[in-house]
Amino acid sequence: MKKFAIGIDLGGTNLRVALVSAEGEIVRKIRKTSAERVFETLLESIDELSRAHVGDNISGIGLGVAGLIDRNRGRVFTSPNLRAIEGLDLVHELKTRFGMPVFIENDANVAALGEKVSGAGRGFNNFVLLTLGTGIGGGIIHKGELLDVSAEVGHMSINAEGEKCQCGNIGCLENYASARAMISRAISMLEKGQESLLKECCKGSIYKLTPEDIYKAALEGDTLSREILREAGKALGVGLANLINILSPEAIILTGGLIGAWNIYVQEAIKEASRRAFKDLVDSVKIIPSSLGDEAGIVGAACLVFMGLSRTNLPR
Ligand SMILES: [Zn+2]
Repeated sequence: MKKFAIGIDLGGTNLRVALVSAEGEIVRKIRKTSAERVFETLLESIDELSRAHVGDNISGIGLGVAGLIDRNRGRVFTSPNLRAIEGLDLVHELKTRFGMPVFIENDANVAALGEKVSGAGRGFNNFVLLTLGTGIGGGIIHKGELLDVSAEVGHMSINAEGEKCQCGNIGCLENYASARAMISRAISMLEKGQESLLKECCKGSIYKLTPEDIYKAALEGDTLSREILREAGKALGVGLANLINILSPEAIILTGGLIGAWNIYVQEAIKEASRRAFKDLVDSVKIIPSSLGDEAGIVGAACLVFMGLSRTNLPR
């Protein structure tokens, strides 16, 4: 009989819940906002999905959560964008309510797993996945398996005298290379009176700017937007060079909203990483976009179940 698992990707903005087969195929998917009543919405979504598939062989629930995970106790240590679930005994709660095994991991770690099982990482045994969005997350696949570490690559410091990060460290990569960093730089330059196409593009309020606005203006030749994307790309390149020198991965897979700006932002990052990392290492790494996009999380979360239950390596 065909096996399925419920894969959940719980981010700061979106909640995705899906029924996924052991082969990584998504059978049914629900997407909701995680902005309010996040725990209740999570329960309702699992309930909705499991009722619709009562006769199917559902082996368990896998959760990928945006935050630092306490794997031993099945809870979330900290999650700056999901304060409502901090400290909640998620694994125990879901096990009790739904009567099936539950597994939990960080969201970028499960995205790496998803890409390994049925995405851009399929052909690689050693790669790093970076999620480039509001913040920056990471997941590491080593010798074909998800490396059981925190992989908080967004919080590697790239500037010893830099800005203070919300994590407590100073000069973290995500303070320079994330969407949040780009937007705050754009707003501060516009507030200082810098001329830019960005002034007109966000319907009168510069506080509603998005990374898409910046990329679009950059393509139209806007100097400030190009500079913001290049600077952020350069910072990302510093981070990539560090990862390449430390881990010598076969590939770095990039995902998240910012890869839409590949031609300026990522190209700049690749250039900077090539300037900094050991030449032999940089020559043998492939820097590529994810192929599952925002579905990597639900596929990877479902994989946690099959892996956890079989206690073997990745499902084939
Ligand atoms: Zn930090």
